[in-house]
Amino acid sequence: MILRLLLIFIAVSINLSAAPQKVLAVAYKNKTIQRPIIILDAGHGGLDKGAKIQYPYLEEKRLSLSLTLLAKKYLEQLGYKVILTRAKDYFVPLKKRVEFANEAKAEIFVSIHFNSCPNKTAHGIEIYYHNSLENKVKAKTSLNLAQCILSDIIKKTKARSRGVKKGKFCVIKDTKMPAILIEAGFLTNPQERDNIRKTIYLDKISLGIAEGVESFINKYF
Ligand SMILES: [Zn+2]
Repeated sequence: MILRLLLIFIAVSINLSAAPQKVLAVAYKNKTIQRPIIILDAGHGGLDKGAKIQYPYLEEKRLSLSLTLLAKKYLEQLGYKVILTRAKDYFVPLKKRVEFANEAKAEIFVSIHFNSCPNKTAHGIEIYYHNSLENKVKAKTSLNLAQCILSDIIKKTKARSRGVKKGKFCVIKDTKMPAILIEAGFLTNPQERDNIRKTIYLDKISLGIAEGVESFINKYF
């Protein structure tokens, strides 16, 4: 009897401690629901360090990879299949990133960067999409994706929104699926940089990315 009670207690505790996202992920696995494939593209890498700060020494390529790995974790908890264009500190040409995404038949492409500016007061988060005139469906869905993700990142971080902007970066222009490029804050702004250096803050941005993808899928897929 005591053993039975103990087993029930353990079972209830396990159930209560399971995070809702994990329960959802298990449900997706068990029902074998196919969720969209997402490409996360950590900006720069290897010899291409991206934006650099001397004091304290920071490299964009490392921060973009840290944020990408956190976003991957949260998206996988929601049941998405996530593919990375780079999982370590190595250089991947932009064209290769595009080819990789197109060949993987991914449904969503998210490139992750941090910003810099000679004006140290510049701060906030902005997201770029390509306003393609040849592919209006891609332009519209990319815009929707950018709006969903920006809104969720701002909710989580309380950072300043610099809005959704049009851009012609190769990774968002030449990919075939809805594609966006996140500039997740300015390394040149002392206050924002202090936040970005903390894992707890990167965690908030990555949760915003994952929840933004989820809002986009629920609204438009
Ligand atoms: Zn960059």
